[in-house]
Amino acid sequence: MILAVASGKGGTGKTTVSVNMAWALGSEVRLLDCDVEEPNAHLFLEGNLHGGETVSIPVPQVDESLCDGCGECSRFCEYHAIASLGTAPLIFPEMCHGCGGCAKVCPRKAIHEVEKQIGVVEMMHAGTITLIQGRLDIGVATVPPLIRAVKARLRNDMPAILDAPPGTSCPVIATLRGADLVVLVTEPTSFGLHDLRLAVDMVRAIGIPYGVVINRIGIGDERAHAFCRKENIPVLLEIPDDRRIAEACSRGRLIVEALPEYRGLFESLLEKTMVRKNAVGV
Ligand code: SF4
Ligand code: SF4
Repeated sequence: MILAVASGKGGTGKTTVSVNMAWALGSEVRLLDCDVEEPNAHLFLEGNLHGGETVSIPVPQVDESLCDGCGECSRFCEYHAIASLGTAPLIFPEMCHGCGGCAKVCPRKAIHEVEKQIGVVEMMHAGTITLIQGRLDIGVATVPPLIRAVKARLRNDMPAILDAPPGTSCPVIATLRGADLVVLVTEPTSFGLHDLRLAVDMVRAIGIPYGVVINRIGIGDERAHAFCRKENIPVLLEIPDDRRIAEACSRGRLIVEALPEYRGLFESLLEKTMVRKNAVGV
């Protein structure tokens, strides 16, 4: 089973839910930190990151002696990573997604591709958890290829929990594709509700079953609950606004270890995700 944990905005406790679920599973699991711009799941685990396998994408390079400045490459690139103003094009490698399209459409075969590193994939073993994380190089804006490289480390014989980047943009969709179930983490605040609505629209559009975790119960109001009731969305877990949880997280400790009374919550979350998965027939 591949379970993805996402949220419409950062700071809702998405990584907290991911790592505590991985620990509560109690058997071999792959935890994939797909928040490659700011991977932080490793902060909650004891172990050493190793590997550092580089990930590259092919970016265009132009042979100016062949180019006639026709601009076909520039018109083709929807990422604005190559620009021609009637002359040999300028290339912005940090914006290139490595799709290879500009080389294909160039009528004069003036473009060839060179490999450009965009980041690394690292690994850590912590008990039954194998953490795999992507780390994007500074200044690189091309996130999905690195997320795909992280997801290439999924194993068919092992359950996986994917910690998605925050938001609802391309990197999140690259993370969620192929997941069996998505857990959307939110807070009972007006900002939380606004971003939950966006996240719900996103998972509905992708067509993946989902449920909601409401974190920090007590800081806001009932609107997130009311929204879930109205939309018939299962609330899989409610985590109280407990200062001790915030203290444990700020010290890089797992809730399930620092506050054993909460273990049952995360175990029940795992059970409910299985029930939800079976109910929707994934
Ligand atoms: S498509 Fe080829 S020939 Fe035309 S501007 Fe781009 S590199 Fe030059
Ligand atoms: S490889 Fe694709 S993304 Fe990169 S510059 Fe060419 S068309 Fe644009």
